[in-house]
Parts: sequence; structure tokens; C-alpha cells
Amino acid sequence: MTATLKPKIKIYTKDNIHTLPQFEKISKEKQFELKVVASILPFRVNNYVTDNLVDWDNLESDPLCHLNFMQKDMLSESHFNSVAQLISTNQGNTPLFFQTVNRIRLELNPHPSGQLTSNVPNHDDEPVSGVQHKYRQTVLVFPKQGQTCHSYCTFCFRWAQFSDLDDLRFATDQHRGFLNYIKEHKELTDVLITGGDPMIMNARILKTYIEPLLGPEYSHIQTIRIGSKTLSYWPYRYISDRDTNEVLALFEKAVAANKTLAFMAHVNHHRELETDAARQAVKAIQGTGAIIRSQSPILKHINDAAAIWERNWNLQVRMGIIPYYMFVERDTGPQNYFAIPLIKALEVYRTALKNVSGLARTARGPSMSATPGKVNIEDVQVIRGQKVMVLKFLQGRDPEWVGKPFYAKFDPEAKWLTDLKPAFGEKQFFFERDIRVVNSAISNI
Ligand code: SF4
Repeated sequence: MTATLKPKIKIYTKDNIHTLPQFEKISKEKQFELKVVASILPFRVNNYVTDNLVDWDNLESDPLCHLNFMQKDMLSESHFNSVAQLISTNQGNTPLFFQTVNRIRLELNPHPSGQLTSNVPNHDDEPVSGVQHKYRQTVLVFPKQGQTCHSYCTFCFRWAQFSDLDDLRFATDQHRGFLNYIKEHKELTDVLITGGDPMIMNARILKTYIEPLLGPEYSHIQTIRIGSKTLSYWPYRYISDRDTNEVLALFEKAVAANKTLAFMAHVNHHRELETDAARQAVKAIQGTGAIIRSQSPILKHINDAAAIWERNWNLQVRMGIIPYYMFVERDTGPQNYFAIPLIKALEVYRTALKNVSGLARTARGPSMSATPGKVNIEDVQVIRGQKVMVLKFLQGRDPEWVGKPFYAKFDPEAKWLTDLKPAFGEKQFFFERDIRVVNSAISNI
């Protein structure tokens, strides 16, 4: 389906944001704050987002403004002040400024869960660049050309991918060793092509990642997942871009080759799906036989209310999208600004879930993608007189961990797995004993 309208993307960064038609709606103070924070965290927004999603008359509380525009409190006071002081004294282009920026970035845990090294497998004694193999059946591929997005989410846990610190980038190399790795690892069933946003790549490049997987040597791969936020940030990708028809034909080809093509849509707020373009894009993708599933972290200032999730999940079911995950904001970058206590996340999840029909109850969560695996917060119970949080692995570095409940002391403030302490006088969680063995097994795969 190709619409007659052909919108052209215009990207705004910290260097040209003053040319945004709505720029004067941002107060002078906020403009300065944006400049300071955007020196540390990557900032990019496009004209689709600014024209269709942001509510310019309600910037202070607009969730979609918070989704894309930096706020002062996304940095700690000391980080903010060190950069602000250099900018306001005209030292924004000095070696001291760049040293300060780099130091702060490194203090923000740029690669949570040790991703840069601990999930990278070896092949022929060499690390396979741009690949993470954390769970037995699923491999993540980070295409070199897909390490950017049409707009950047302020909460992004992959923000380091977009920073200009070269050694923080994670992407495939030109030798494409990941294909050999996937071919030889018959235990794999799922390949997740991720980024950035792989749908930023043109159809010709996207094909070089997807088409090989349709060949007979890859018959063990049953699902190709594409993680993307294009439904929210550039739905024209499936309506009117120059290579839209090629992209849709590629999806059809993958489905015809008996693969499940799972489009993993990042949708943080129902408003992202309420535009005509998003509706058309969803229909176009579904018309290829691809399945759309949705996921999002739960985020203060954006979606930390049950009513937002209810409306989002209901709308998704109406559009034929399968709600998949509610994640917890990860321990990196501006986590302090967005994270809410795990107990509050559980409350929001449960309240939303009980108010939607069975078909919308497919979303799992709240779940932490932590170093040992995906840990779900299941419940709060009193056991042997102790109030505890019940947790469970949905995915584990060791598959034996999956599904087994384990217990943490009740902590109403905890926001991440590492904030929790084992219940019942245990010194450590059971997986902490086993993780070194598993790590060494994985690095020798
Ligand atoms: S679309 Fe995904 S990868 Fe891109 S900035 Fe947003 S969360 Fe990060």
C-alpha cells in the first residue's frame, strides 16, 4: 500500500534545535537545560514526532515531551552543574568540556549488565562482533548500519550506542561473522535484529541481514524478530518511503519462507498509536503476514499509571497487536529520572491487567532485564512470618533457573534487582552462586 503523500523526514539535534518551528514554545530556561543534558545524553527528534505526538501547549506534563525532550533532572545536580558551568562560561568546545562529558557518561553505567563483553560469544576463538547470545535459543544481532533511530527516547538504555564515545559502540563488523555463528549454532531458534532501530536501514541493507536467514542452512531459525520504534517515530516507513514496497515485500518473503516475522514494536504510550499514519503502518505490516508484539518499560513522567497501560493494551488488541512485555527501567543513564519502585510497577501492572480482557493479558511483567536474566516481579507474600517479594526468572543465563520462584526481603524503595536482598537470612540469591560457572560456559560456546 503506497499513499500519495510522501512526507520528508527532518531531524533536529542539539545543534539545530533552534530551527524547530515550535522552538519558541520552550522557555529560555528549558532551552538551556536541554542544551546541557543533550551534551551528555543523545538527543534527536524528528518532524513527525514534533508535529504529531508532542503536545506543545502542555509541555511540562506531556508524556511525549518527556519521551523525547531532555529535562534538567535527567542528570544529577553535580553532573548538570559541571556541564552548565562550562557552557555558560563559553567553554563548551574546549578539551575540558569533552573530558567532563566523557567522564560523566562513563559514570552513568553506559553498558548495563556488562553487555559490551559478557554476552558476546566466541567463534573460532574470536569474539563475534555485534552479537549477544545471552539465552540459549535467542541471539541478538546489532547491524552496523542500524545503530541509530528516527528519534531518540530520553530513557533509552542503549543511549551509549548513540554517543560519540567510539569504544561504547556495539555493532556487527564488515566480515559478518554473525552469520557463520548462527549457521553453526543449531540450538538457536530466534534471531533478534536490533539496534538502535534496524528499520532505519534501507531495504537493500536490511535484506542483507534477513535474506540469508531464509536459506536452508538456517532452517533451525524459526523466528526473525525486528525490534523497532518506527510505528511511533516514522510510520511512513511502511506507507510512503521510497523503498516501502521493498521493505514490505521482504517481510512477505520471510513469512513465505516459513519464518515467523515478529515485529517487536516499542510503544510507551497509547498516543503513539493514535495517529492515522501509525494505524496505516500497522495494517501495512500485518498485511505481509508479520505479527506485531509490543513492549515498553514503565516510566515515571511517561506511563506510570494503570489507566495508560489499560488504554494502550486495549488499543493494541483492537489493532491486532499482541501486548508482550512491561519492563522495568534499566540501571543506566537517566534511570533516576524514570525508574519507579518495583512494588509500584507491580501495582500498576496488576491494576491494568485486571481491567482488560483476556486477550490483552498477554503482557508479562514487570520484568527486569538484568545480568543473570529476565527477572519478573510476581507477588508480595507473607511466608514464615516474613513479608517477601516473590520473583521468578522468565529467561535465565542458565535455562534451569527459568520458572523457579525465589524470594527477596520486601523493599518498597527497591528499583532494580541489585537493590534487593535475599529473604529468610540467605547470604545470596541462588543464581549468584551459579553465575560464574554459567558465564564461563557461555563465553566458551
Ligand atoms: S527507539 Fe529504542 S533504541 Fe532508539 S532511542 Fe528509543 S529506546 Fe533507544
